[in-house]
Amino acid sequence: MKIGIVGLGLIGGSLGLALRSHGHTVLGVSRQAQTCQRAIARGAVDDASLSLALMATVDVVFLCTPVAAMQATVVALKPHLVPETVLTDVGSVKGWVVKTITPLWSNFVGGHPMAGTADSGIEAAQPDLFVNAAYVLTPTEATPIAAVQRIEDLVRPLQTRLYHCTPEDHDRAVAWISHLPVMISASLIAACREETDPAVLALAQKLASSGFRDTSRVGGGNPELGAMMAQYNQAALTRSLHAYRDQLNKVITHVEHADWRSLTVLLEQTQQARSEFLREGGGSEAVTE
Ligand code: NAP
Repeated sequence: MKIGIVGLGLIGGSLGLALRSHGHTVLGVSRQAQTCQRAIARGAVDDASLSLALMATVDVVFLCTPVAAMQATVVALKPHLVPETVLTDVGSVKGWVVKTITPLWSNFVGGHPMAGTADSGIEAAQPDLFVNAAYVLTPTEATPIAAVQRIEDLVRPLQTRLYHCTPEDHDRAVAWISHLPVMISASLIAACREETDPAVLALAQKLASSGFRDTSRVGGGNPELGAMMAQYNQAALTRSLHAYRDQLNKVITHVEHADWRSLTVLLEQTQQARSEFLREGGGSEAVTE
């Protein structure tokens, strides 16, 4: 197939590398000439341009820009596409994207590959980024079935685990497992920095090991991506943050009242729940509604 990618960064570049390795022709558009040159040099695209006119002959376009740029990108892209062109996106939120893009292009399928790294830009792109990763499609009743099938046919061979859900369920689910962890992890880093004794703070930094490295990792990532999650998934994230604060209040009460029994029960429950939670994911390919 002839594939177009708009936005040649971590996700767009990785998709290009993966799709080309499966025999597809990939054409890319990005804002900077340097990004286009690097995408060609890295083998992420067969050709690249600053002009969306390059998308005129492709069968499928993957929108891989930041979420905030997607609406304006589709408005600018429309005059270059034929009605048969299937449009999909990779944005980390789906409610806003699907609501905004569907009226602009009916042959549109919302999508979200659940894979990433702490790095961004074309240099961070990896051909195997999506191997074993969940790939969520969020078709609505208005989405043409043939368009959904076309995207599935492209991403399934990349060894992704395909899921279907509504845009709203997607946003509530990722609020729990992606957006809330970023806010908690960022809050952990900010709280540690509130230690008032500089000697204790310096000691804590020296002693910090794998536990702190793990729990602070997602809070130390791309600030623009974190702010985008909050802005475009505000309702679901607010709901999850309140639930988290209620949970934290329970822990504070147990500790302040030296209620070690209740604290132990809670930690026993979470120990068991964690393995159950993670066992549910990572299985074989599944398409669920
Ligand atoms: P990224 O590495 O920063 O890449 C985005 C690229 O898009 C930039 O390199 C930029 O290239 C280009 N770009 C920006 N604005 C553009 C515009 N208006 N028109 C054309 N190109 C534009 O970001 P990313 O991590 O790949 O994220 C891209 C999308 O994937 C986002 O929607 C994000 O929500 C989603 N996503 C991210 C992750 C993750 O973990 N990072 C995971 C899943 C999904 P130039 O140098 O040319 O400006």
